[in-house]
Parts: sequence; structure tokens; C-alpha cells
Amino acid sequence: MTTSLSERLSAELSGLRESGLLIHPRVLDAANRARTSVDGKAVINLASNNYLGFADHPALKAKAESYLREWGAGAGAVRTIAGTLRIHEEFEEQLAHFKHTGSALVLQSGFTTNQGVLGTLLREGDLVVSDELNHASIIDGLRLAKATKKVFKHADIADLERVLQENPTDGLKLVVTDGVFSMDGDIAPLDKLVEVARKYGGVTYVDDAHGSGVLGEAGRGTVHHFGFEHADDVIQVGTLSKAWGVVGGYAAGHHDLRQLLINRARPYLFSTAQPPAVVGALSAALELVQSDPSFMERLWDNTKFFKAELERLGFDIMGSQTPITPVLFGETADAFAASRKLFEEGIFAVGLGFPTVPKGKARIRNIVTAEHTREDLEQALRAYEKVGKELGVI
Ligand code: PMP
Repeated sequence: MTTSLSERLSAELSGLRESGLLIHPRVLDAANRARTSVDGKAVINLASNNYLGFADHPALKAKAESYLREWGAGAGAVRTIAGTLRIHEEFEEQLAHFKHTGSALVLQSGFTTNQGVLGTLLREGDLVVSDELNHASIIDGLRLAKATKKVFKHADIADLERVLQENPTDGLKLVVTDGVFSMDGDIAPLDKLVEVARKYGGVTYVDDAHGSGVLGEAGRGTVHHFGFEHADDVIQVGTLSKAWGVVGGYAAGHHDLRQLLINRARPYLFSTAQPPAVVGALSAALELVQSDPSFMERLWDNTKFFKAELERLGFDIMGSQTPITPVLFGETADAFAASRKLFEEGIFAVGLGFPTVPKGKARIRNIVTAEHTREDLEQALRAYEKVGKELGVI
């Protein structure tokens, strides 16, 4: 007998419910700021990716409003038909200039960028070697590619070299890594990855979702941090939704990359261009980070303070090197309990357990931003101390 829709939905949902994986997103009743309101409760927000505090910044909102008024609410078509407004091209030039790359193209999100770029670049006979902790959008993007796919152990250069050695090909070789890993907050060893990739004639592909606006001069990103921004054999992709505070994705690198993506990347060809207000806000974000270094200074001051204090209290922050600050609780139930208790104390920080992170490594992931005051962080630390003691973690 044919499965009905009701049967399918209820079977799937009860499976999720039984394994404790059913998601109920918390709802913010105010803008995503360092202090906000979640499910009716005033909280200090350690859960957003709003690294520079740009999501609700007046400069971004003002330029968004002006582009909205002048250019309309929507772009009206996909980029290749009638959706490329002058502001799209201007912003892409601004972005390539900022990134110091030969070209840059903007897509609808970081997720679709990985699908578009990986799906476009790779052919049968190519080899792609991907870090085991790479983001889900890379994994999905690689599903669209016909290349031979291999995984190397997280940030393990010797393992990467082994895989490259064992899989010779005359095709393109692509080494794929996150710039900053979203669960642990560690920075990819890009200098060594690029060196090994080059030794085998390969190209390095960096998803810099969490490095852009965080690392490198004026937030130019992980690739800039390691000095590879002019390299034609390094491709960077990323999101415009985290430090840049809005939404969108980009690919930047070799001067021909943009032209090929315009012709082949399916999200570019078949999904409507970004709305003018988004382009305006993003353009203001790039202007602001370059004209005012205090955003990045505050981000890193806050990061250093918060991490040092957590360690002083006895927490394990899992070797993080960036504002992404995991706090290890071990068992999934403990991490979730800690998140609930912190919430009662007015701290919004999300617990992550298996299968999002390995078994026994359940944690709370905190993201420090430029917008947090010292007082916000001190209040969060007091709550952490209380909850950590209650759960016997410190
Ligand atoms: N890549 C990485 C490494 C990410 O962390 C994210 C965001 N979760 C994405 C891609 C997707 O970006 P977006 O939210 O713009 O789709």
C-alpha cells in the first residue's frame, strides 16, 4: 500500500522525538544584539554569529533603506536574465577589492555558494580531499560533484599528504577546508595545507564563513591572515551572514573564477538575485569595517578576556583560537542541562551534542562579539561559574 503523507511525517517526527533530536528553535522577540529578548526573557546573547555587531547597526540599516527606496524591494529576476542591478556589480567589485582577489561573485547564501562552486569546478577524474570536520554545506556541495572524494583527518597534514599520494590523477586536485572550524573555533593550518596541495599540483579551497570579518587585516579573512590573498591557486568562499551581519555568500579568487561561475553555477543561474536592501547593508558593512578598526579591536579584546576568564575558572575551552568559544561538558545531557540553567540565569548559549559533535564532546558554543560590554561578559562568567559548579564540571 502506498505510504501516505501523514504516515511519512509522523514516522519521521516520532523517530526524531525518540532519539531526542527534535528541534524547537528559540524565538527572539527583538533584534539580534548582544542583549536581546528570547522567548520573552531578557538575555545576554552568546549564540549569534554577529561577530562585529553589524546585524542591527545603524550604518547598515541606513544604506539598506536608501537602496530599498532607490532600487526597490526585490531584484526581479535571476542574475543572468534581468536581475543584475548596477549595485550588484558595484558590490562585487568592492568585495574583490577588499579581499585583494582577482574576482568575486555574490550568491544567495554561504550554503548555495558551496553547492555552486564545488558543483561547477569539479569533473569526473578530479580528486577532492576534504577535512573531516568541514561544514555540512561543503559535504552537500561535494555530493553534486562527480570527482573522486576523499576525507583527511581534521587539520592533519600527514594524512592529507597520504591521501594525495594514494590517489594520483591528471585531473584537478582540490584540498577543501573551513578557514575557522565552526564547532571548535580552531584555525585551519592554511600555510601547511597550501604547501602540501601545491606539492601535488593542487588547489586549496577555503570556506571562510567564520574567518571573514574576524581574521586578517580589517577582517579580510583567513586567506589574508596567512598571506595567500593574491594566490591564484587558493579559492575562498564564505558567507555574508555572520560578521557582515546580513545574508549572502561569495566566492573570490582567480580572475576567471567569477566568469565561469556566472556561466555555470546553478544558484547563480536559477535563483533570484539578492534584494537591493541586502546589497546596501553589505556595502555599508565593508565600508564600516575598513573605516573603523575599533570593531575588530573590541571583538578580539572581548574574546581574549572571556576565554582567559573561563580557563581561570577551570573550564576546558577545547583549544579554540577565535571568538567561537566552546565550553566542554562531555555528555550531551549535561551540555543541554547547562544551556537550560544558563538561560535561567539570563545567558543565551546553545548546547551542542551528538551527532552534531562527537560523543563525549558535548559542549556549549559561545560566540563573543564586538558588541558585548565587559559587564555582559562578567555577568555571563558569573552564570558559568554557578552552573559549572552545579554540574560538577569545575
Ligand atoms: N559554511 C560554514 C563553514 C558555515 O558555518 C556556514 C553557516 N552555518 C555556512 C557555510 C552557510 O552559510 P549561510 O548561512 O550563509 O548559508
